[in-house]
Amino acid sequence: MSTKTNEVHQFEKILVATGARAANPLASKLDPSSCKNLHLLRSEADAARLVGALEDSQGKKEKEIVIIGGGYIGTEVAAGVAGWAQQGLVKSVTIVNMDPTLMHRVFAAGGSAAAAVVPEFLEKMMVENSKSNGEPVIKVFNGARIADIATNAADEIVSSVKLASGETLACDLCVLATGATPNTEILETCGVKFGPRKHVQVDSGSLQLLDATSGEAIDGAFAAGDCITRTVGADLEVVEHVGHARSSGKHAAMGMMGENATRISIRKKVRREGNDVTYLIPLRSRQCYL
Ligand SMILES: Cc1cc2nc3c(=O)[nH]c(=O)nc-3n(C[C@H](O)[C@H](O)[C@H](O)COP(=O)(O)OP(=O)(O)OC[C@H]3O[C@@H](n4cnc5c(N)ncnc54)[C@H](O)[C@@H]3O)c2cc1C
Repeated sequence: MSTKTNEVHQFEKILVATGARAANPLASKLDPSSCKNLHLLRSEADAARLVGALEDSQGKKEKEIVIIGGGYIGTEVAAGVAGWAQQGLVKSVTIVNMDPTLMHRVFAAGGSAAAAVVPEFLEKMMVENSKSNGEPVIKVFNGARIADIATNAADEIVSSVKLASGETLACDLCVLATGATPNTEILETCGVKFGPRKHVQVDSGSLQLLDATSGEAIDGAFAAGDCITRTVGADLEVVEHVGHARSSGKHAAMGMMGENATRISIRKKVRREGNDVTYLIPLRSRQCYL
């Protein structure tokens, strides 16, 4: 393995845990590094940039915010940003969501009964609780597609977002909350197998990378966290959360050390002793401790 500064590292075993970054579906035209009022959210620095923009007193005071995406991050950002309306810094927060409901991918997964009730309730609560001077600050467009994003001549400022339905939303600040892209480009020429969204595919038992041609597990090469996909039943599953990052990381580490770790489970048993809480993650033949 060589680094960008040309350091070469030999290895017997390798773990790929490169995670993911916020997806930017506009990347061919717009990027937050050059477009001043376009925001992605992944790191603390991204959050600080967003707060700085909300509190910036140089531009228009009462900002109209457009959030593209109605999943976890889109809804959380909308709820948070709407709070700035109380200080007269935000006029409107509009979620443009291409799915039929908010959090659709969370609640509709596996045909959950909650899908029929929770997203609608969540939307109602968000809209009603965001009222300022009797008017809701948060608006939600479900099943909505972007037709065009208007910018200034230098593509430095997003000025409005046009929906396929014909509506045009004025935009002082645009947040892209459209999911994550795995950081797996470094493996593109290594002959490993990828899932449909460019996650590296791993063997469900040992979390070893798979050979793109034979589909066999590659000796000594492991991956864990947001960058992986693995077969669960008939499906390829991607899990993007901390519990999975921890348990898959631990599982891969055990595999690298030659432990008999045979499946991941993020179901936890909790053991309490006084103030100490131990989370036990059951594996098939043994338990390991978080
Ligand atoms: C805004 C936000 C809120 C979230 N909230 C929650 C929550 O409430 N609960 C929850 O469970 N999960 C939450 N998550 C998801 C959670 O953060 C991720 O699932 C978790 O961080 C994944 O861990 P990871 O180690 O796989 O990847 P990451 O945490 O993304 O770490 C990847 C690391 O690899 C490094 N890297 C990338 N490419 C390279 C390379 N080429 N060479 C060297 N290093 C590289 C990166 O710099 C980084 O240090 C949230 C995510 C976001 C973005």
